[in-house]
Amino acid sequence: MYQYQYGFIGSGNMAEAFVRGILQKSATQPQQVLCCDIDPRRLEALAQAFPGIATTNDLADMNACRILLLCVKPAQIAAVCEKLHGLLSSEEHILISVAAGIPMAVLQRHLPGRKVVRAMPNTPALVGAGATGYCVDSTLSESRRREVQELFEAVGVAFELEEKQLDVVTALSGGGPAYICLVTEALADAGVRLGLSRSVAQALAAQTLLGTGSMILQTGEHPAVLREKVCSPGGTTIEGICALEMAAVRGAFAEAVAAAYDKAKLLG
Ligand code: NAD
Repeated sequence: MYQYQYGFIGSGNMAEAFVRGILQKSATQPQQVLCCDIDPRRLEALAQAFPGIATTNDLADMNACRILLLCVKPAQIAAVCEKLHGLLSSEEHILISVAAGIPMAVLQRHLPGRKVVRAMPNTPALVGAGATGYCVDSTLSESRRREVQELFEAVGVAFELEEKQLDVVTALSGGGPAYICLVTEALADAGVRLGLSRSVAQALAAQTLLGTGSMILQTGEHPAVLREKVCSPGGTTIEGICALEMAAVRGAFAEAVAAAYDKAKLLG
């Protein structure tokens, strides 16, 4: 019934991450993807990067897509949704917004009777290692929920949650890359202070974060168990852990996520 499986409205960074993910990790063919943007340079760039995909600057063409991803900036969501609503001929399209801070109620107001999904991905989606929390319209069937899950899994891990939990997702994994960049920078600075070159210190710090994250996900172990394995009695690492505890690092992260959560609730 639909010519395209996926349509992207707004074909910037986020849309590009999803196109790359679905083409690499799912059975989707380039011919099943349609990208829409008001900027012709973006469309050219995507058509070059992903040969075979279709592009358009006409929102009306998006009626041919089964799953529509709204990847414009939050400020443009209302205008795009209102235009789009009049252009869609079926009630079976799934419309997924990845716009930060735009609640389901706003999407449903602009797209009455449509099947909408609100998602909060994060920037590592750009390298296929994202973390997404999303909530779906109660009218979405189990099989269509699976389609949404598969889409987000093309750019990392994904969890279907209740909408009220999305503010926590915003505060934890949405802002998380910024917190982790700060940790990486702090570790690298510490290495430079003790004589390592910047490039070596930064690579060691970033790879340690990446490797530890992978280890936690792959083993399914509680982080405390893995931490304990590095801390030999009377050894060097327990000295470092002790210094971090004295500096209340655990509490600082709790406060950071809580502060971002309070702000997200105000915006939503
Ligand atoms: P971006 O600026 O790279 O892309 C937005 C694109 O939308 C641009 O190419 C722009 O030309 C296009 N556009 C603007 N108005 C349009 C219209 N009326 N019709 C069609 N296209 C239009 O932005 P991005 O970083 O890809 O972010 C997109 C959305 O993703 C935002 O709502 C943002 O909140 C959300 N998001 C992004 C990230 C991220 O890591 N970049 C993370 C979480 C959520």
